[in-house]
Amino acid sequence: MFNEIRKSLKKWYIENGRDLPWRKSLNPYNIWLSEIILQQTQINQGLPYYYAFIEKYPDIFALANADEQDVLNLWQGLGYYSRARNMLQTAKIIVNEYQGQFPDEYSSLIKLKGVGKYTASAIISIAFNKAFAVVDGNVYRLLSRLFGIDVPVDTASGQKVFTKLADELLDKNEPGNFNQAMMDFGALQCKKVPNCSICPLQNYCTAFMSDTVSDLPVKSKKTVVKNRYMHYLLLEKNQQLILTKRTSDDIWKNLYDFPLIETLNSSEIGIENIKHLIEPHNLAEEMKCIYKVNHKLTHRNITANFYVVNLKKPLKKINFEREYVFVNKNRIEDFPFPKLIENFFKFYLH
Ligand code: SF4
Repeated sequence: MFNEIRKSLKKWYIENGRDLPWRKSLNPYNIWLSEIILQQTQINQGLPYYYAFIEKYPDIFALANADEQDVLNLWQGLGYYSRARNMLQTAKIIVNEYQGQFPDEYSSLIKLKGVGKYTASAIISIAFNKAFAVVDGNVYRLLSRLFGIDVPVDTASGQKVFTKLADELLDKNEPGNFNQAMMDFGALQCKKVPNCSICPLQNYCTAFMSDTVSDLPVKSKKTVVKNRYMHYLLLEKNQQLILTKRTSDDIWKNLYDFPLIETLNSSEIGIENIKHLIEPHNLAEEMKCIYKVNHKLTHRNITANFYVVNLKKPLKKINFEREYVFVNKNRIEDFPFPKLIENFFKFYLH
């Protein structure tokens, strides 16, 4: 049956596979770049970023020489910024330790920053034609339905079962093409809500035949989401605004936002809450919350309030534990921001 499934997938891929720019070459740099961009991102959203990176950094040497702030600026809006930082570190390692050539061994690829099993398998199979199967959410979904497997996909035992099955099903003669066919089939055909009536794998699909498509795949646990309440202070005088750099091991590392107070609930804060940051005699009057927003990340539900703090004279310093800079408002675009702040600027600066 495996052979029939492989044949059907191959035919489907030739007729329906996505025409993606990195598929036009077997260059591991292009494949790696696309895989990193698409790790937590939909293709439609990731494509413009891929083009922008290839244009600015056409090869690994150009990227390895890039400034981190420029890379983060270009990455702005994609989220999960650790991907961009890891990408830059990996580019430097490839240039310094591998003379600019991607290693063609899985064991070396997997050691690179930001390269997990999926990305290593994708690079090694597509660029080097080596038989390593890719296994991600799309592949779990397809395999669990095709073979009627109800082992939870988010457990170690589930991952073992699905990885073994993916390895067995892999077409060892064309592992790169086969993996891309699996990726596309999971993304376009065997979707969350699949269109089984036109599926070429219908006759082999256990879930279809047993009417259990909507029960698969099985997950064991829900993602735990933490609430965070952020209160941002807009300290502005004579077109100068204070930005701070997020340097700790928290969300948005090395991106910029504003001096911030975090609380345990969503209630607005008042001037008494910020007197330890700014000399009280410089505070003109009550501060005002001008913008509120809820912003969802995978593991965080953020409620953010933005306050205008009226000052009597320009600030020289604040007692804030983070690194901060005074920036002219028309130079804001030189800095990388998380999406939450980027969205706020659309409101605040226009
Ligand atoms: Fe997926 Fe439906 Fe095709 Fe089965 S028949 S592989 S569930 S699309």
